[in-house]
Amino acid sequence: MSQSLIIFEPSGKVIYQFNNKISPFNDFIYSLVNQTCTELDSAFSTAAVAQKRFYCLQNDTLYAALYFDVVSTLDSEKVRLCLDGVLKTYSKLCEDDHAKMAKLIEFQFQTLVQLRLTLTDAEGSGERPVSKASTPVPNLGTSTPVKGKKSTPSKKMRKWVNGELVDAVDDGALDYSNAADLLSAAEGTGAAKVQLNQAAFEKQDNLVLLRELNDVLGDAEDDEDDEGDKDGSASGVTSGFFSKISSYFGASVDINEVSKKFIEQLISKNIAPATAAAIIEKIKARLSSKTVTVPVFKQALTDELTKILTPNVSTDLLHDIKKRPLGRPYVISVVGVNGVGKSTNLAKLAYWFLQNNMSVLICACDTFRSGAVEQLKVHVNSLKNLNSGSARIDLFEKGYGGGDHVVNTAKLAIAYGAAEDYDIVLIDTAGRTHSNAKLMAPLKKFGDAANPDKIIMVGEALVGTDSVEQATNFDNAFGNRRGLDFFIISKVDTVGDLVGAMINMVMATKVPILFVGTGQTYTDINKLSVKRVVDMLTS
Ligand code: GDP
Repeated sequence: MSQSLIIFEPSGKVIYQFNNKISPFNDFIYSLVNQTCTELDSAFSTAAVAQKRFYCLQNDTLYAALYFDVVSTLDSEKVRLCLDGVLKTYSKLCEDDHAKMAKLIEFQFQTLVQLRLTLTDAEGSGERPVSKASTPVPNLGTSTPVKGKKSTPSKKMRKWVNGELVDAVDDGALDYSNAADLLSAAEGTGAAKVQLNQAAFEKQDNLVLLRELNDVLGDAEDDEDDEGDKDGSASGVTSGFFSKISSYFGASVDINEVSKKFIEQLISKNIAPATAAAIIEKIKARLSSKTVTVPVFKQALTDELTKILTPNVSTDLLHDIKKRPLGRPYVISVVGVNGVGKSTNLAKLAYWFLQNNMSVLICACDTFRSGAVEQLKVHVNSLKNLNSGSARIDLFEKGYGGGDHVVNTAKLAIAYGAAEDYDIVLIDTAGRTHSNAKLMAPLKKFGDAANPDKIIMVGEALVGTDSVEQATNFDNAFGNRRGLDFFIISKVDTVGDLVGAMINMVMATKVPILFVGTGQTYTDINKLSVKRVVDMLTS
């Protein structure tokens, strides 16, 4: 059960929040800006976004908005009265008695929440029919972060340390998604918190390269596996799924029976059921004329997973950047749904490029999420402070706005990057719900105008079956002529060996994985080790 309330100015600046949850409002504010929400009257709007029911009331100078976590059964007039009361309370008391104001607003909001809880469905929503009159649109100008309590992370963050997953201590995590942390943007203090693993990168021929995921996990496990594979046993893992399944089925197996067990195994690793079934069907077809044993089946599965994950294009980004035409920066843009780690991984890429003595211009093209520009400012400040080389890192931003603002900002950044001789322009984009056609549509326009050399989707390892649709929708969002170039799979440190989302995304799109995110510091980024991931999936 969740509900939240904010008061914001027409500029988009949030000036009061109850429940410390600004981010769910971003998509709703986007629908206000783009006039896709429903107007209940000229000052009162509603929309259902991401399984939440939002309402927004405007007075002469301010907007108040709230949401409930499911479609509301409340009479919208009651919501209107509540928001009206909240705006009046704010206007009357904000200057003289902040504490009293906060108490009263909380009381007004909670009364509405209680009312909602005691209502029955029979009461209905009571919403009036949709009017198409023009919506008052807040101009999302420069937004200033709000001070708020640090929210409790919904998922516990873990890291790999010496091959083991441990709970992460707060050692300078790059979590700037919280409004309070963004205050440090103005002060430029972000870098003070950052601690980096100096051994995370390796040097080769004057290049600084990212290490493979298995380096992070430790090589010992791999050596063990190699030994096991030599004698043809089930992966060298003496316990676990394959030894169990071998003793269960004996020497030769019924292919249908064993297929079922393998499908279950893949699903248990977070591979979507349809994807798991498709993989196993391929293997069954390939083995149909052979005598099947568990090791034979396992080897076929290992080969198939390896084939899926092995990129069939070059992933040597440094080489591509060096080979770009003279006089223009290499343009990379990062896309994905909200909160997956786009900005964080973009900053990790920037840090890595700086280690390779390449100058980076970060372009803030999330021009609609309140605080997004400030979040990038924090990263750029931190990266500047960490940067000891001669390469430059700067932020290009043109504040907030809807419509063509994103495209214009991207074009201006690329032109500026060329004029000022930056090697790379890294463009952050707004997070968007992949299933919302209205939010996805602007990506095509953006792709056509900015024409990035590489479009990278950041996808979370945490996401389950939905990863198939996320990857497919983002890959299709850029029209017929181009799609995604790479994935960065973030938060791999939080899922143990449940790394099936990688297979879901790659199999649905044939887009290769460039890197994996393994934590919240700038060096928590690794090359994919196909072998390591396949081992995780098959053991
Ligand atoms: P965005 O909305 O997609 O730009 O997401 P952010 O970059 O703001 O990241 C959202 C949250 O995910 C922040 O708390 C980040 O610190 C966290 N995050 C990003 N990448 C990783 C990762 O690889 N591992 C972990 N544990 N957390 C990550």
